Amino acid sequence: MKEFAKEFYHSQAWKRCRDAYAKAAGGLCERCLERGLYNPGEIVHHTVALTPDNIHNPSVALAWDNLELVCRNCHAELHGAAKRYRVDALGRVLL
Ligand SMILES: [Zn+2]
Ligand SMILES: [Zn+2]
Repeated sequence: MKEFAKEFYHSQAWKRCRDAYAKAAGGLCERCLERGLYNPGEIVHHTVALTPDNIHNPSVALAWDNLELVCRNCHAELHGAAKRYRVDALGRVLL
């Protein structure tokens, strides 16, 4: 976890947001589900990565349309693979 994000990830606002999102998403990894696999979602990932500039902006940091429930493998893939894929203007990875 990056230093600037520590406070955010420990905030009540994020914990509430994350738990509510994970519940609404059905508790399964959304990426695996697209491939027909049922794996428990373990991490709520920000599609548009948090930066020191946007982390205090709730429409990025706490917006459900910027969140994705993923398993550990998919999360590692999302972050590890980011450099190998093109990203759009919003920083979203194009698969
Ligand atoms: Zn997955
Ligand atoms: Zn992530």
